[in-house]
Amino acid sequence: MKRKPGVPHNKYCRGCAAICCRNLALAIGKPANRKEIDDLKWQLHFTRVKIYIRHHHWYQWIKSKCMYLSEDNKCIIYERRPDICRKHNPPDCEKFGKFYDIMISTPEELEAYLEAKKKNRQKSSGK
Ligand code: SF4
Ligand code: SF4
Repeated sequence: MKRKPGVPHNKYCRGCAAICCRNLALAIGKPANRKEIDDLKWQLHFTRVKIYIRHHHWYQWIKSKCMYLSEDNKCIIYERRPDICRKHNPPDCEKFGKFYDIMISTPEELEAYLEAKKKNRQKSSGK
């Protein structure tokens, strides 16, 4: 059956405020040295920017609304929406909170996360 434009394609999406269309997730590399850590910390100075880790991959998460989201939370280009939107489906999404393993909101949280990882590595290598 051909879907009408703007109609949620999944029953889980009904009634959702289209949270996934109000955030931009960009794949980034895991910081490999002090400079890259400092750069990431700087990005976290900005209130609309967060970082999350999913399945060992790192992403920058920016609060920003897609220009094709209507006032009533429908995609106005539904039939020609990008592939990335087509592949993003509940329950692996923002509404159900299953799109990340670790969410990092501040420079301090990033330092604490990296420090904890370092301690774990040292513990498991017996240092
Ligand atoms: S994919 Fe998830 S976040 Fe996006 S509209 Fe559907 S339920 Fe909401
Ligand atoms: S193109 Fe449509 S589905 Fe994709 S983010 Fe924008 S409003 Fe959402």
